[in-house]
Amino acid sequence: MKKTLRTEIIAVGTELLLGQIANTNAQWMSEKLAAYGINTYFHTVVGDNLERLTQVMKEANKRSNVIIVSGGLGPTEDDLSREAFQQISGLNIIEDEASLKKIERFFNERNMEMTPNNRRQARVFENAKILENKYGLAPGNLVEYDGNIWIFLPGVPREMKQIFSDHVLPYLSELNGAQIIQSLVLKFIGIGESVLEDRIQDIIQTQDNPTIALLTGRDGNTIRLTAKAASKNEAEAMLQAKKKEILDRVGEYYYGDDDATIEGKVFELLLKHQKTLAAAESLTGGAFQSKFVSQSGVSEVFKGGIVSYAAEVKQNVLGVKKETIETYGTVSEQCAYEMARRASELMDADIGVSFTGVAGPDRTENKDVGTTYVCLYDRKGQRQVEKCKFFGNRKQIRYQAVLKGFEMLFNYLK
Ligand code: ATP
Repeated sequence: MKKTLRTEIIAVGTELLLGQIANTNAQWMSEKLAAYGINTYFHTVVGDNLERLTQVMKEANKRSNVIIVSGGLGPTEDDLSREAFQQISGLNIIEDEASLKKIERFFNERNMEMTPNNRRQARVFENAKILENKYGLAPGNLVEYDGNIWIFLPGVPREMKQIFSDHVLPYLSELNGAQIIQSLVLKFIGIGESVLEDRIQDIIQTQDNPTIALLTGRDGNTIRLTAKAASKNEAEAMLQAKKKEILDRVGEYYYGDDDATIEGKVFELLLKHQKTLAAAESLTGGAFQSKFVSQSGVSEVFKGGIVSYAAEVKQNVLGVKKETIETYGTVSEQCAYEMARRASELMDADIGVSFTGVAGPDRTENKDVGTTYVCLYDRKGQRQVEKCKFFGNRKQIRYQAVLKGFEMLFNYLK
């Protein structure tokens, strides 16, 4: 029998409500379920309280057809998951023979006294499917009630994970028609989230399968496509078709999929065009070079850079003209241009990139915090200078400047 599953996870434990531990069990299970195309619609956390637990279970039984209960199967009186479910279902609780033997063996082998409480862990619902717990004493169990599937798992993450992987996931994916979920992330730079959204609005509005999610990332914006299909190949084909549809609109800003990085793309383009690069950095303090040289093999295209932070270093080491600094200041289009040009000349690189600006928190040279000039100079004589106004703290302003450098290089080289 195949059916559309509507799954809900109930995590039981007062320590979860007190914030002493996070509900990582639900997060872990949901991720696994999603990978198999099984929808999870609710996560509920409830304390070790019989009344509230029954209330939550009644609600779950109305709205979901697979309910997974994590925790509350232990030996103590406050482990109430079975009792609560018995109250709403009227199902009998019995002792599972095999589990009871296992518990007895456990105590015998350790010469420990087994108390009546310990027997509690062997209790399961009558006619339930017993889910073997390899790492603990309380087995999981799965029982049908009111047309829904109820699954009871121990709360200890190691035990829950083993039972879930070995028994629950295979059972549910069979029931669900063994669908798989595949994702593809498209990465963009130089286009704001709202413009990106606007350009593909109709595609977003009519989305179904694959689904489309826009996210603002650290290095530009991303679109995550997620396809659900019976096979990996089918999902892949659906993703590629949707990718083409999107790139027909905004392809000029696209720099790669999944693990692609903007510095990787710039490296690839420099190699392709056989061009070399040098940098002169003021406010970014070497951050551009640091990001770029995090890639192995980059010495094929990267000559080096100078961190010319102080005005006298811009002048004496880099060779920016004294008049330029006196007339326009260090945070200026003219200074940025000379920095990029001198870097490329000094290091005999085809392209020079430079960064100068006010990272804050105080204004410099009467210029606002965030004012930044990024220049790209090609020794064939071409130059581009962008005046930017970034917002945020020092760290954020410097990072946006670095990213602007990569964006300009990407646009120039692509
Ligand atoms: P046991 O049979 O071992 O007593 P149990 O089924 O009664 O387990 P709980 O007593 O509720 O489960 O939880 C045991 C331990 O497992 C908790 O102390 C906690 O560390 C961890 N745990 C329980 N629920 C969760 C959860 N939802 N997410 C993460 N960890 C959990």
